Amino acid sequence: MKIKIDELTENGLELNFSGQEDILSRALESIPESPGLGLDPRITGHVSFTVDGENIFLIGSVKGLLHLQCSRCLADFDLERELDLSLVLRRELATPPEEHEIMKAEGDEIQISGMEIDLGKIIAQELLLSVPMKPLCNEDCPGLCPDCGSPKGSDGCICSEQDRTDPRWEALAKLKDKIVV
Ligand SMILES: [Zn+2]
Ligand SMILES: [Zn+2]
Repeated sequence: MKIKIDELTENGLELNFSGQEDILSRALESIPESPGLGLDPRITGHVSFTVDGENIFLIGSVKGLLHLQCSRCLADFDLERELDLSLVLRRELATPPEEHEIMKAEGDEIQISGMEIDLGKIIAQELLLSVPMKPLCNEDCPGLCPDCGSPKGSDGCICSEQDRTDPRWEALAKLKDKIVV
């Protein structure tokens, strides 16, 4: 979703997202895909643009749905994220208008060049940046069983804590069995 800068008047622009429209998928095409990290193209919330000279202020609140993979049990899960946006878009008028690159600058300032603001890309990047370093399907996720590889405590795992033998003793235990027989 792109906003033409010429169409932003002194009164600014307000947009509301109901969660029905596809706001992000065009932008997501230009963001490299990474395994275990996806984003639903629909968002809810609202944003507003205000123009002040060369600066455009983008404020609002958006809610999106991230598709993640649990860092412990590797299960796919969805995480809803609500973000408050408060960004300054700084226009670079010296660059040719046909290019519209967005670069995340330090802090909450974004440099834009060209005559369009790629709102979808800005929102997608902000949502992706909000992803926890080690996402968890659940704070108490027990992870995978080291013996059978199924999620611990799931029906797929029948190994009990008591049955687990220290691998260093396993060889000795086998030897002992042989001696007895
Ligand atoms: Zn998990
Ligand atoms: Zn197990």
